[in-house]
Amino acid sequence: MARIVMKFGGTSVADLNRIHNVARHVKREVDAGHEVAVVVSAMSGKTNELVGWVENMPKVAGSNAPFYDAREYDAVVASGEQVTSGLLAIALQSMGINARSWQGWQLPIKTDNAHGAARILEIDGADVIRRMGEGQVAVVAGFQGLGPDNRLATLGRGGSDTSAVAIAAAVKADRCDIYTDVDGVYTTDPRIEPKARRLKKIAFEEMLEMASLGAKVLQVRSVELAMVHKVRTFVRSSFEDPDAPGMGDLMNPPGTLICDEDEIVEQEVVTGIAYAKDEAQISLRRLADRPGVSAAIFGPLAEAHINVDMIVQNISEDGSKTDMTFTVPSGDVDKALRVLGDNKEKIGYDVIQSESGLVKVSVIGIGMRSHAGVAASAFRALADKGINIKAITTSEIKISILIDGPYAELAVRTLHSVYGLDKS
Ligand code: ADP
Ligand code: ASP
Ligand code: MG
Repeated sequence: MARIVMKFGGTSVADLNRIHNVARHVKREVDAGHEVAVVVSAMSGKTNELVGWVENMPKVAGSNAPFYDAREYDAVVASGEQVTSGLLAIALQSMGINARSWQGWQLPIKTDNAHGAARILEIDGADVIRRMGEGQVAVVAGFQGLGPDNRLATLGRGGSDTSAVAIAAAVKADRCDIYTDVDGVYTTDPRIEPKARRLKKIAFEEMLEMASLGAKVLQVRSVELAMVHKVRTFVRSSFEDPDAPGMGDLMNPPGTLICDEDEIVEQEVVTGIAYAKDEAQISLRRLADRPGVSAAIFGPLAEAHINVDMIVQNISEDGSKTDMTFTVPSGDVDKALRVLGDNKEKIGYDVIQSESGLVKVSVIGIGMRSHAGVAASAFRALADKGINIKAITTSEIKISILIDGPYAELAVRTLHSVYGLDKS
């Protein structure tokens, strides 16, 4: 007997038929004698609809900004998961399974105060463990918790993955299965590159990079938690027949295992390609080349909660003036330009330029630590396709390249094939 946490994403619970199908997956594990907790997302499209409602509220008089209250945003957008947790509990009961729903505040899943992007601080798993021992399935609403202000808090888009892994850690589950609409983690997004291959295993560090660099198959924070708490996490499909052979395999269910790198016997140099759309580039021209300039630029941007990513500073020709280029999410460009405009005197630049609609394509692999020439192959392959590189950043296990938006798919496919990732 094992203790298993099963998480089902939006497409897996998109309508009543799919919820019934999810209940069959849960029944399989219950019938095998396992203790089961389930985490559900909202029906697909629901969270977007709820976010849209909040964003389309009346504008503040004399301004273009809508009324906004992050705590009420959370109260609205958390409701999608409340609905699916109740519906799945009913579907399970209708199959003769003892089940009940839990909202984040009922466990409780305690979070910090960052409404809209809260972090889980603590989960009291005692009640769920006791009831699982009595044969009851806990159906937990993902994406939500309770803040220190005693109000609903949500965990950021894609946050149900994080709820699932955090609950798995709290109840000391043997396994956390993330069920989605693909049957595992692929070498790149299979929607962009049909030749992408499913990975049997991927190391935590690589999955962390893939997720941070745009592969939304798992929320970044869920991978961090799985890595820290050593949660045995599988990504697998809810769209397969729940009773197909092997689906109930305890140690090796079909899907991709996220694990320590020592568990991976045949490590490739490059494991995957990720891409992130909606990047924007800002350049400050003819800056004074003196100590404190970077602090004068990035300090105020950080205070305005703007996430700066790639940073490139030119070597100054004559030691007096230089240029600085960096990227921010497209949605933050206007705010960033405003902040930099307000600080023009202090920073001391001549001209500011910006460009939106860029894409960051990244090559990821632990094997890069010990192999030279990986970056050079990427640059050559992109050049051969006439794709211009606007900025580059590297770390031990990744190379990120900024390019024009329209070339995104071509770049992903080109890099995927150059590193031999295409399935044969
Ligand atoms: P869910 O609603 O189940 O949480 P998501 O839409 O958040 O599902 O994540 C699954 C999607 O992630 C897939 O449909 C796929 O298009 C996308 N994806 C991006 N990169 C990858 C990758 N490397 N491997 C698998 N899926 C990926
Ligand atoms: N429903 C939330 C979202 O769409 C959380 C999740 O699906 O993981 O972002
Ligand atoms: Mg998701």
